[in-house]
Amino acid sequence: MELRLVGKNALVTGGSRGIGRAIVLALAKAGATVVTCYRQEGEAAASLARELKEIGGEHALIRADVGTAEGVELLLRECGNRFETLDVLVNNAGVISQVPFAQLPFEEWERVVATNLTGPFMVISKALPLLGEGSSVITIGSRGAMAGIPLRGHYTASKAGLVGLTRSLCKEFGGRGIRFNVIAPGVIDTSEPDELTDEQRAQYNERYLRMMALGRFGRPDEIAGAALFLASELSSYVNGETLHVDGGV
Ligand code: NDP
Repeated sequence: MELRLVGKNALVTGGSRGIGRAIVLALAKAGATVVTCYRQEGEAAASLARELKEIGGEHALIRADVGTAEGVELLLRECGNRFETLDVLVNNAGVISQVPFAQLPFEEWERVVATNLTGPFMVISKALPLLGEGSSVITIGSRGAMAGIPLRGHYTASKAGLVGLTRSLCKEFGGRGIRFNVIAPGVIDTSEPDELTDEQRAQYNERYLRMMALGRFGRPDEIAGAALFLASELSSYVNGETLHVDGGV
């Protein structure tokens, strides 16, 4: 049993920044050939392309929005052109916002659900012909889905939906040897600017750091470690599981 993924093909959605980027790099370093996607052109995607080139291999970065049927079609067409099989599929792309439920517009609910829940549905559906015995489907949920977070009802609902989807699919496709699992991160420091003021940020840090037994936020590479485990044969009997990677909340 080993962690290496030499000769394996992987698709990671939303790989240009944050957790997705760490997962892409970890899979590539473990020997997998990785296809990933993003929406916005810029330094994040360009620097990832450079890093992947240094690692070596036939990796690909594609501009495709997994919140749309056209984006998913494009992405999976690219995978089909490159791969005969898909050994690892990571549904990582996700969006978030903080809106009081009473003011939550339907459009914002739809935007978040489109990427976080409908996206994985469409990606898994289109990937099915490439998945088979030994394939591992990993979906990035959230610790918040089980805890509940004020101002994020739309986000937590989308993330909780992924757990139900994973539980059902593990049963529907277990007979074909395809595994489905969720990684539920706690608060991970992706060093992204957000809409919080300095004061709100300080309050946020104090509130969340107090909850974490390890007393710190997680790093993207610590989620990538869990993804490597679930991608590899080391987890060959782990199926339908939600793995909380949250420093002990
Ligand atoms: P970031 O915002 O740092 O990065 C998100 C990545 O996904 C970017 O590369 C972004 O590229 C891409 N992306 C977003 N939407 C789409 C889309 N519709 N189609 C294609 N690509 C897309 O997010 P994080 O790294 O923080 O989060 C990654 C995942 O982990 C998400 O599912 C998130 O909900 C989950 N998570 C994160 C936690 C955290 O503390 N950071 C905690 C719990 C869960 P672009 O901007 O170009 O679209």
